[in-house]
Amino acid sequence: KTITAEDIKKSVKDNDVRFLRLAFTDINGTSKAVEVPTSQLDKVLTNDIRFDGSSIDGFVRLEESDMVLYPDFSTWAVLPWGDEKGGKIGRLVCSVHKTNGEPFEGDPRNNLKRVLKEMNEMGFTDFDIGFEAEFHLFKLGEDGNWTTEVPDHASYFDMTSDDEGARCRRDIVETLESIGFEVEAAHHEVGDGQQEIDFRFDDALTTADRVQTFKMVVREVARKHGLYATFMAKPVEGQAGNGMHTNMSLFKDGKNVFYDKDGEFHLSDTALYFLNGILEHARAITAVGNPTVNSYKRLIPGFEAPVYISWASKNRSPLVRIPDAEEINTRLEMRSADPTANPYLLLAACLSAGLNGIKEAKKPMAPITSNVFEMSEEERAERGIKPLPSTLHNAVKAFKADPLIQAALGEHLTQSFIDSKNLEWSKYNQSVSDWERDRYMGY
Ligand code: GLN
Ligand code: MG
Ligand code: MG
Ligand code: MG
Repeated sequence: KTITAEDIKKSVKDNDVRFLRLAFTDINGTSKAVEVPTSQLDKVLTNDIRFDGSSIDGFVRLEESDMVLYPDFSTWAVLPWGDEKGGKIGRLVCSVHKTNGEPFEGDPRNNLKRVLKEMNEMGFTDFDIGFEAEFHLFKLGEDGNWTTEVPDHASYFDMTSDDEGARCRRDIVETLESIGFEVEAAHHEVGDGQQEIDFRFDDALTTADRVQTFKMVVREVARKHGLYATFMAKPVEGQAGNGMHTNMSLFKDGKNVFYDKDGEFHLSDTALYFLNGILEHARAITAVGNPTVNSYKRLIPGFEAPVYISWASKNRSPLVRIPDAEEINTRLEMRSADPTANPYLLLAACLSAGLNGIKEAKKPMAPITSNVFEMSEEERAERGIKPLPSTLHNAVKAFKADPLIQAALGEHLTQSFIDSKNLEWSKYNQSVSDWERDRYMGY
């Protein structure tokens, strides 16, 4: 059901909401917010809250630094944490507009809406997404900062019940439910202190908004338990990293067009074309889905993370897996992205690649039936299986060579993305690590 301005006003009263958090996302996927007291409610609801965007990463254009927030009423939530005096905080996800009312091109959320409109013009009604964002919990130190000590040494699907990690996970699930999430699964992951909580799939914009809220909830609840939550891709060397499996399907008038009961793995031709689009643009998509230096320390063999561009139905070694499912659940699971990705940019890139695949109507390479890591290099070459980029630098190079994925981000975001990544790579290149000292001091 749609939420109106009146509904929000009533909810503010009923819940003793005293502050309104107006959220949006910068180029790096970081949630930003302007917080105003509820005395400003009318201004909030009539798109009249302005802010200076000049110091937001990726917005930077001094000549157009005045921005206006347009809240999406459907995202209204009363957060379970109060202010100092016991009043509540309400949250609205916003789109960023220019003072002349036009959507600001540097806002990743606006950009996703633009690509979704292209999808609608092709006759599809929804791009449905389910994310599986993994994370690690570490103990907080006495100074309130993170440590590398874990609250448990459980492993995959362990039924641990009374360690702080499991208690925290349950608290996160309940908190998410209290603000309207439908949590479908929660379990301990392979790594020490590693967790996964999955909420039900929904249309791309809703899911991107939700994953931002999800991360905020995970971080806040963890702190209450004396823990620190991180979504960094590979927090511990030699252990599993954090992925954000991206489950995708395309709908037309309530029907999943990826489903064909007679197709191999129940996939329709449309699904195969979409898949081919993803595979063809996988290297550039990786820049967007794996946007940190550390992301590439996860994309190595041995930890259920993909390294090669291939697909399969059961096997978990390739980039895309087709989970065993029917009808509305038939989907492509892209396994490369990690939770440091900006979800709006990631989904815009995947959708553009997939839609282009549908336009080209080409079938993908044959699915693999064995572990791609166990194939010889010759065998992979014979089958046309290429590797994903091995560093952020290589991924950004692939991004710069892919006009389709650049168009998926649009000019403004493409430029800010490249600038931001170049800076990050050059900072990394200048750093000298413990590994280097250990290795080279004796030279
Ligand atoms: N943690 C693995 C990754 O890096 C995924 C493990 C799983 O969910 N099966 O993607
Ligand atoms: Mg999972
Ligand atoms: Mg998992
Ligand atoms: Mg998965």
